[in-house]
Amino acid sequence: MDLTSFSAGAQYIAGRLTPGTGDEPFRVVNPADGSTVQQVTLASTADVDHAVAAARAALPEWSGATPGARSEALTRLAAVLGEHAEEFARVETAQTGKPIKLSTEFDVPGTVDNTAFFAGAARNLEGKAAGEYSGDHTSYVRREAIGVVGSISPWNYPLQMAAWKILPAIAAGNTVVLKPAELTPLTSLMFARACTEAGIPDGVVNIVTGAGRTAGEHLVSHPDVAMVSFTGSTGVGKRVAELATATVKRTHLELGGKAPFVVFDDADLDAAVHGAVAASLINSGQDCTAATRAYVQRPLYRAFVDGVAELYRAIRLGDPLNPQTDLGPLVSYAHRDRVAGFVDRARSYATVVTGGAPGGKGHDGTDLGLGAYYQPTLITDAAQDSEVVQGEIFGPVLVVLPFDSDEDGLRLANDTPYGLAASAWTSNVHRSLRATREIAAGCVWVNDHIPIISEMPHGGYKSSGYGKDMSQYSLDEYTQVKHVMYDTTAVARKDWHRTIFGDR
Ligand code: NAD
Repeated sequence: MDLTSFSAGAQYIAGRLTPGTGDEPFRVVNPADGSTVQQVTLASTADVDHAVAAARAALPEWSGATPGARSEALTRLAAVLGEHAEEFARVETAQTGKPIKLSTEFDVPGTVDNTAFFAGAARNLEGKAAGEYSGDHTSYVRREAIGVVGSISPWNYPLQMAAWKILPAIAAGNTVVLKPAELTPLTSLMFARACTEAGIPDGVVNIVTGAGRTAGEHLVSHPDVAMVSFTGSTGVGKRVAELATATVKRTHLELGGKAPFVVFDDADLDAAVHGAVAASLINSGQDCTAATRAYVQRPLYRAFVDGVAELYRAIRLGDPLNPQTDLGPLVSYAHRDRVAGFVDRARSYATVVTGGAPGGKGHDGTDLGLGAYYQPTLITDAAQDSEVVQGEIFGPVLVVLPFDSDEDGLRLANDTPYGLAASAWTSNVHRSLRATREIAAGCVWVNDHIPIISEMPHGGYKSSGYGKDMSQYSLDEYTQVKHVMYDTTAVARKDWHRTIFGDR
């Protein structure tokens, strides 16, 4: 099957592509040059209703399938995704502008591995052992599917975010309606088509390509949606939580980040410098766990700033399809301007050491002016309470600040509303243990920053949200636990009744 043809429409409902019935056409744009990747019609609220109805219709059969049957389907899906790896990488790069080497080596294999992981996890529902805990009953727990899950994903890793939302939900027996970000719907649609090709029944995975305010809010508020799983900004996450509260839905919120990168004075400087460049520029910094604030203990501060600046200047911006390109454009011109706004405002209170401009000619001769490019930008001398230190810029921008005592470094690391991820760089085991204990974030790396694995959870503390993606923890989140209690006495007048009526 050719997964990349969308001529039949950009909604995927009940196992078929269909055109949206919203009134506005929408252009999926390649941010490397402004060309149109695909023209789509956005979903109306009626399309969302159809998708929810399809998911609801598919629920009894899918939730009633054995874990083994669901596992087999996911194993086939991993194979189908692997067979179409090249197309997924190409379309992901076209709609986001991310370098092809990142799509090929990170986004797509990560998704295949996640799928294989959830094929195994589907057969591994955990709970407390059955037992006679009261003495007079046998108790056990059932871990059951929740129902139709309404999922909403962002544009930064469209394929991986769709997979993180869909896989644990369907592994646990739920059915899904996913609304991808309107800028980047294409690989989510391809993923859903791959589900059908793998034999996952129609209606288990549905995609509505629509705007947040209309299709997104309608999905979150829908009475037949039992759970909402959202990945995106903290501001929209709050709105989603508010809407979900009205119908008492379970929510799972993966929100913004502003990850600190704490370098102690005994760290391997070369490792920290290289680590900071990679961790701040991955996906052009449009990564919720990207290193954004480096705190460097004073003895290493100057050498760290010089080292990062030198490597930043050598980064190769260019055509994202060129395998040698390190950095492509940002996802859109509007987002590029938003990032530039943060940097331009910072000039009045901080030092822009390098970058801070869209860029002229790429390493391969690409005219960067045609795309939404922005150079790697290093900022120093900013106050801790300034906008570039506190706000989520979501671009290739790193702020570096010095600190003196270990207490100060850890205090500054915790001093934003966010708590998604962080790293500590040190060769001292006690310092690293202290940092991993005291930094309030859902993930703390030691002497690295960014790697993720399917077996381990990803999710935030504080304003970065709650709930875990990937790992057995996320499977648990997409189930509800039922306590079943059997009387074992066969006695009509049970001892505990006397607390309500009669005497012993
Ligand atoms: P966003 O919040 O603007 O949009 C996310 C999704 O929500 C999109 O699909 C959008 O259409 C939809 N949406 C917008 N308004 C809505 C509304 N009123 N009701 C329902 N849905 C609505 O985020 P973005 O700009 O697409 O993505 C970047 C953000 O995502 C960053 O803040 C980043 O940190 C965050 N993010 C977090 C994680 C994580 O795991 N914590 C992962 C990736 C991205």
